[in-house]
Amino acid sequence: MHRKKILVTGGAGFVGSHLCERLLNEGQEVYCLDNYFTGQKQNVVHLMSHPYFELIRHDVTQPFFIEVDEIYNLACPASPVHYQYNPIKTMKTSVMGAINMLGLAKRVKAKMLQASTSEVYGDPKVHPQVESYWGNVNPIGERACYDEGKRAAETLCMNYHQQNGVRTKIIRIFNTYGPRMHPNDGRVVSNFIVQALQQKDLTVYGKGLQTRSFQYVDDLVEGMIRLMATSDDFIGPVNIGNPNEFTVRQLAELVISLTGSSSKIIELPLPSDDPMMRRPDISLAQKELDWSPTIELKEGLEKTIHYFQSILN
Ligand code: NAD
Ligand code: UDP
Repeated sequence: MHRKKILVTGGAGFVGSHLCERLLNEGQEVYCLDNYFTGQKQNVVHLMSHPYFELIRHDVTQPFFIEVDEIYNLACPASPVHYQYNPIKTMKTSVMGAINMLGLAKRVKAKMLQASTSEVYGDPKVHPQVESYWGNVNPIGERACYDEGKRAAETLCMNYHQQNGVRTKIIRIFNTYGPRMHPNDGRVVSNFIVQALQQKDLTVYGKGLQTRSFQYVDDLVEGMIRLMATSDDFIGPVNIGNPNEFTVRQLAELVISLTGSSSKIIELPLPSDDPMMRRPDISLAQKELDWSPTIELKEGLEKTIHYFQSILN
């Protein structure tokens, strides 16, 4: 078998660490690049002794040169708490990171997959969201540094493809959860599980009537690998997410029941521009990648609860 050399930026983060592990298991050589802003060495420490794994501390806003066959560009904080901490840096990471990685792809003739997001649809007026929907994003709102940064990264992928012939793939990832989310990540699934396990109140923002569709991380990684393997004329963007939609309050109730916690639900103010609903239309992924999610919320939450129990004790 030809062992591919693969660069994963953001590889020490939640999704990136699962992707690195899967690629190594498939016999590939993995270069994991990260600046440890929201990721941590702990997420990949079990891979360090693998002969085909290399960990590199680097910031994607700076150019980086390496000979690789494929690049998965995941570097970017994903939790609103973290991406709003330094919005200018978030925008730089998405835009300059994409330029640097696309430039590298051009130079070494690598294929590049860009991690985009359902956030490009903003607070959507089309439901469920199809790839042809252009979205409803507030360009000057609190989420703009992330949403617009990712939209610009998508634009750059198309531009480098059309202008320079770079082989690019765009994946629009919907809310994903699983082991190795940081306990202080601030996203809803990790918040609720940690709160429930610590018998603290679960913090529902607003009335909790806003919806999300939660995907287990293994399903996402499968979708990423399938997308990378598509023919060069398929660029996407393609939605990867689990179409089963829940209100945030339903999620809170499910987490309390699965953990057997005595926690109560409290309501906190709803952040501005918080999308009211989100659910992927996955017809394109089903057709082009023969992909569908396989892990339902209850099963995925049980695995994730088990993980948080092991790290919080
Ligand atoms: P994460 O925060 O756990 O991982 C992001 C990783 O990128 C971290 O390891 C962080 O240290 C690294 N990073 C951030 N800025 C960097 C920089 N300038 N240079 C180098 N490394 C940098 O988040 P995640 O959930 O694993 O998300 C991974 C990717 O998937 C992100 O691009 C995110 O936007 C995208 N995504 C995730 C979700 C989700 O629900 N998890 C949804 C949509 C899109
Ligand atoms: N949310 C919540 N309580 C929390 C964290 C988040 O009610 O402790 C809500 C948040 O307002 C949003 C949904 O859960 O409506 C998903 O939030 P998350 O930060 O996980 O992702 P995103 O908003 O980017 O989809």
